[in-house]
This record gives sequence, C-alpha cells and structure tokens, in this order.
Amino acid sequence: MTTTSAASAARATLYGYPRQGQNRELKKAVEGYWKGRVTADALRATAAELRRTHWHDLSGTGIHEVPSGDFSYYDHVLDTTVMVGAIPERHRAAVEEDALDGYFAMARGTQDAAPLEMTKWFDTNYHYLVPELGPDTDFAADSCKQVAELGEALALGLAARPVLVGPVTYLLLAKPAPDAPAGFDPLTLLDRLLPVYAEVLADLRAAGAEWVQLDEPALVQDRTPAELAAVVRAYRVLGGLTDRPRLLVASYFDRLGEALPVLAKAPVDGLALDFTGPAAANLEGLAAAGGLPGKRLVAGVVDGRNIWVNDLERSLSTLGTLLGLADRVDVSPSCSLLHVPLDATAEKDVDPQILRWLAFARQKTAETVTLATGLSQGTDAIAGRLAANRAALASRTGSPIARDPAVRSRTAAVTDTDTRRSQPYAERAAAQRALLGLPLLPTTTIGSFPQTAALRTARADLRAGRIDADGYENRIRTEIQQVIAFQEKAGLDVLVHGEPERNDMVQYFAERLDGFLATRHGWVQSYGTRYVRPPILAGDISRPEPMTVRWTSYAQSLTGKPVKGMLTGPVTMLAWSFVRDDQPLADTARQVALALRDEVRDLEAAGTAVIQVDEPALRETLPLRVAGHAAYLAWATEAFRLATSGVRPDTQVHTHMCYAEFGDIVQAIDDLDADVISLEAARSHMQVARELAAHGYPRAAGPGLWDIHSPRVPDLAETAGLLRTGLEAIPAGRLWVNPDCGLKTRGWPETRASLENLVAAARTVRAEIDAS
Ligand code: GLN
Ligand code: ZN
Repeated sequence: MTTTSAASAARATLYGYPRQGQNRELKKAVEGYWKGRVTADALRATAAELRRTHWHDLSGTGIHEVPSGDFSYYDHVLDTTVMVGAIPERHRAAVEEDALDGYFAMARGTQDAAPLEMTKWFDTNYHYLVPELGPDTDFAADSCKQVAELGEALALGLAARPVLVGPVTYLLLAKPAPDAPAGFDPLTLLDRLLPVYAEVLADLRAAGAEWVQLDEPALVQDRTPAELAAVVRAYRVLGGLTDRPRLLVASYFDRLGEALPVLAKAPVDGLALDFTGPAAANLEGLAAAGGLPGKRLVAGVVDGRNIWVNDLERSLSTLGTLLGLADRVDVSPSCSLLHVPLDATAEKDVDPQILRWLAFARQKTAETVTLATGLSQGTDAIAGRLAANRAALASRTGSPIARDPAVRSRTAAVTDTDTRRSQPYAERAAAQRALLGLPLLPTTTIGSFPQTAALRTARADLRAGRIDADGYENRIRTEIQQVIAFQEKAGLDVLVHGEPERNDMVQYFAERLDGFLATRHGWVQSYGTRYVRPPILAGDISRPEPMTVRWTSYAQSLTGKPVKGMLTGPVTMLAWSFVRDDQPLADTARQVALALRDEVRDLEAAGTAVIQVDEPALRETLPLRVAGHAAYLAWATEAFRLATSGVRPDTQVHTHMCYAEFGDIVQAIDDLDADVISLEAARSHMQVARELAAHGYPRAAGPGLWDIHSPRVPDLAETAGLLRTGLEAIPAGRLWVNPDCGLKTRGWPETRASLENLVAAARTVRAEIDAS
C-alpha cells in the first residue's frame, strides 16, 4: 500500500469500552451500594479505578485518542437525560435530594415512583432507559459527569474525546411523558435542546476537549424528510457555534442512506461511519456524496458487535479506498465495544484452535491499532500481524467445525415440502381435538415454573462437585414431580414439566448442540447491572443426541394429562447468541432449525402430543431498515416451519412470543402456521387479540391474562374480565387461557394464587358460554 500524507496521520480510536471490568467489579459495587454494603464514595472510587484501568489498557495497546464519558453506572442514555436535565417530574425530588440515589431511582423505580421504561438499543441486546419528554420539559445543562471524566483522562496525559448521545438521536429515542398531550412528538423540542448541547460543548471545550463525538445512530433507520430537516438544523446550530470543540458525528449499526449527504454537508469537522456488514454500503454512499473534503473520517472497519477476528487485509483495502474520500482517515471499531465481552484470552476452556478466531474488546482494540499502523506506515510495518491474521482466517475457513459436510448436504437438500405441515390447519385441528379431548378454553402455562433458590443451589452444587450428576438429576426430578402435582391439583389442562433443568432458554440448547460455544467470562451488559454470556455460533450446527426428551417423558409418566414439550426456536437461538459472520443468517437459522426438527420428532416419537417452540425474539430481530423486513421474515418464518413441520397432523405445535408489540408482524405470525400461539397481552388489555382478529388469523391463540413481570396477583374478576375481552376478538373454539410468559422469575405464592384464578376464570367463562 502506498503511504500518503493523509495516511501518515491515521490514528486509532474507539467510541466506548465495556464498563464492567475484568471481574464485573462494577456490578458488584453498584449492587453493593443498593444493598447498603458499599458507600457512595467506595462506589465512586471503584468506578474511577475502572475508568483508569480501561484507559491504561487502551493507550498501552496504542489507541491514540481514547473515549471519555462513555462509562456509566447504569446506562448512557440515562446519563444523557441527566446531562440535559430532563428528569421526569416524579423523580425530581429524589434527584435533588441525592443525585446518585435519584439516578438509580429513575433506573429502578421506588416505592412511589415507577422507573423509566426500558427498551432495546437499536438491534443490539443492550437496553436503555427511555427518556420521557413533554411540552413542559425544561432542559438544563449539567455537564458535570462529562467534564469530570474528561478531566480524569486528560490528567493521565491522554488525548481524550468525550462521547455524547447526539441531540437528534436523543429526541428520536424519547417517548412522550405520561402527561403529554396525545400525539406529542419529542422532536419538536429540538430548538429548546440545542442551547443545552451548546452549553455542554462549551464546558467541554473549556475543560480541554479538542474533539467531541456526537452519536447519531438513529439516522441509520428510515427517516422522514422532517426528521432529516431536524438533522440539518441541529448541526447548522451546533456547527455554527463560536469557540466550540471540533465535532465528530458518529453513526453505526447500518448504512446512513439518505442521512449521509445531509451529514456530509453539515458544518461539522468529521464523521464516524460504520463500514462493516450491511453498513459497508456507506462506502458507495460516501463516494456518491462527494466524500468529506476538508473533514476527518473515522472509519469503523472492525466490527464492534461480533466476536470474530477481523479480516485485516480486507479492512486495509477499505481504508485505502477511503483515503481518497476524506482529508484525514482514522481507524476504529464500528461502534462502542460495549456490545462485546472484554477479553478472549480469559477463555481458558475454549479450544485454542477456535480461540484464534475470536476477538473480544481487547483484541478488537489491538486490531484497530494494527490497522492504523498499517494505514500510516504501510503494510510492511505490520507484516507479522497480517501473516498471523491470514493464518487464523484460513484455519477457520478450512476447519471441520466451521464446515461439517453432513450438515451442509442436509441443509442443501431442504425442500419447500419440508417446511409445510402435511395437512391444512382445519384438518389438523380436528385430529388434535380427537386426540387431546381438551375442554373449551383450554388452560396452560408458557413453560417455566419458579426457578427457586433450591434449584440454583443444585446447579451450583453440581458445578462445585458437592453433588454428582445423579444427585442433580434427583433434585430436578423431585422438582418436576412437584410442578406436575401442583398443575394437576390446580386443574390446568395442558401441563408443562417446568424447565427446572434450564439455566437459560438459549444457553441450555447451545450447550447441547455441536457448533455452539459457551464462554466462561464472556459477559456483556444487557441492562444496568444485568450481564449475560451469549453463546457463540461458531460452526455448523448439529444435535449429537436428544436434548429434552428425557425430562418431558419423565413428566408425562407422572400424569394422564398431556405434557407440552418445550423448545427454543431458531430465530431466538440466533438473536441471543453471537452469530457467524461467514455465512448468511438464514443459513445458520436453517441448521439450527434442522437440529430442532429432530428434537421435535423425537419428542413426538416419545409420546409428546403438544410441542411448543418459543420465538420471543422474532419481532426484536427485525432489521433496522424496512427494506430488510421482508427478506428477514421470509427466512425467519421458514426456519420455524422447518423446525416444526416434520410431525403428524394430530401433534399440536404451539409457539410463544413476548417482549414486544406484534401488530406489524401479524402476517409473519400467520406464516409460522403454528396450531396455537400464546402471546403477552395482559398489560395492553388484549390488544394483540384484536390485532389477530383484524388480520383474520385463522388458528388458535392464547393472549396472556396475567402480567408475570410483577408479583401482583390478578384476582378472579380481573382475569375473567380479560378473558371475556379476549372472547370478543377470538371465538371460544380457538381461544386458549394462559399467562403472559414463563414463570421462572416468579415466586411460588403468587404463581399458585394466579394460576388458580386463571383456571377459575376459564371455568367461569365456560359456564357462561354453556348457559348462553
Ligand atoms: N418457555 C419459556 C419460559 O417459560 C419462554 C420464555 C420467554 O418467552 N422468554 O420461560
Ligand atoms: Zn415469553
């Protein structure tokens, strides 16, 4: 590669780093503070120490410009809410009394004040706290946190760039406050918000910031002309400020599309763009917009969301093309490294053959530095690392783990017939009625029963060797006996085994499928102090042996009522894992679907007449841009049908969805062709039942009657009332009676009471139907 003057300035940078620390010190400190075991000063000291360690790591690896202000006790969108003074009325007193306690009150709620709503950060598994804004929202700048953290980084002698959520994205992520008039659009507050950003920028400038980054990921979604006009206005105002730091506007997670020429023309000093995956289209977009003459481009060429080693040569070639399009090109991961675990070298149990394919935050930081060096000094300067990278990539391509011929040929042989039940719904339904003999309005649950302390202890005891596999199995069996006995006594119609053996609905299956990899320390923040360890879809997927049949059959042996088999669907398996980057998602989904298809068939062969395949993540995995929806829904629904269509007509297939509103994917729900679907519905007063009815949904559905997110027990009158509301939309012959979701986070007392009320409600309404 030739070295140009622009290239000689290439710097390595990033937008954010995992917050938790090597041993999740942050989680321990924050939760300790909540419990009163850690003082506020000790919490602050832990946080400052973590920031210092992370900055040292980054600069030690060769990052030239580190991010500041990306650290958070809970969530960076909540930090932005504090920064702009948009504290909801109900939390204001708490925040005034004590800023830290008030902050956590907004995040977690108090006895008297509900927390802010939480929702997914774009299409990641990180959740942010939704700002609540209304016409009366009085913004006021509070730059303390940003200024203080910048000061800490500068005091270490580092070049630091504060990272803020940009004003347009902040407003687009907000929802109307509870008392806002109907139809209120938070974006109308832009002109009031911009002076607050101006003040924060001035404070940061005074504190020594040369550059400030404003993150505008909301601009990678489809945006209306009015929203794009808001972008123009926002950056005309902020760019036009005198005595301001230089502004870098960042976007990530997809291509910018129509927002790219808007930002390219804005009077800011640089753009940070994603060039990975579908966002690679930013390359053509940038060229079409005439590049960024006179501006800085930060090129996100290291995927900040997956855990795979970067193809350094490919990235260098992208960077080489970009050199012609901007005044200065710097190198970074595509987004904050918040979304990946900290350090792959901590994974001592992972086969070293596979470990060399993996890059977590530390490894991605090093890749970023290597690429900046290569860009500045030419490829000779990084020849050794390029050779090692080539070898790692080749070992992955050629590995029997990545390519299993048996899986490949089976996947290739899938036909449309494999993805269709052998009979249409009406005939299946008749056969199932004959086989199952269920009453009108059959009652069931979603699968899990309370994951008690005793169960968690049993798993810990097994891990620690205090009990052996037999001992563990005995405890699980005892639990299943109790769950079955309770359901029989309560009078439920279709029983479940309760899922006591499952730590997590994805991990349990990941641990039993070849091609999946579990990590020991691969923690990623899901929200607040909740961290998850997503499994890694590392290779071709196959099922060495049945995964659930033993437990379901055991449960069935204890009762004459049907016990529902319980599996996690292919889309949800992908959504809550790190996916492969070397083949289309659709191919991976198909492999998982075939493994599940075998499990479904084995369950059927073992005498299971009802099998549920959960797809709670079907809605949340929708691509960010509408243009991608149809293709996604096509492969997603096909994968579900592939998993479930291999059964006899009289085997009843259920599915379950939650955590979302489903109005816009009812056609996809229909395309699943499941005999019965259960859905979260209690909080919306059965809204989804009306949506299914409006669509003409032809099969059976169980809109949830009990909101399982709190210990509150809905009484008989309330439950029966919701059921009658459901009946207005769905005829009795196709209506099921069930809670919103699984009960694993609930305690036994409320589980008992609520399910008894649920059964009583079904009986009451059945009697009403008989009488009329
Ligand atoms: N079967 C699972 C359970 O009951 C479903 C969980 C979910 O939908 N998230 O726990
Ligand atoms: Zn659910």
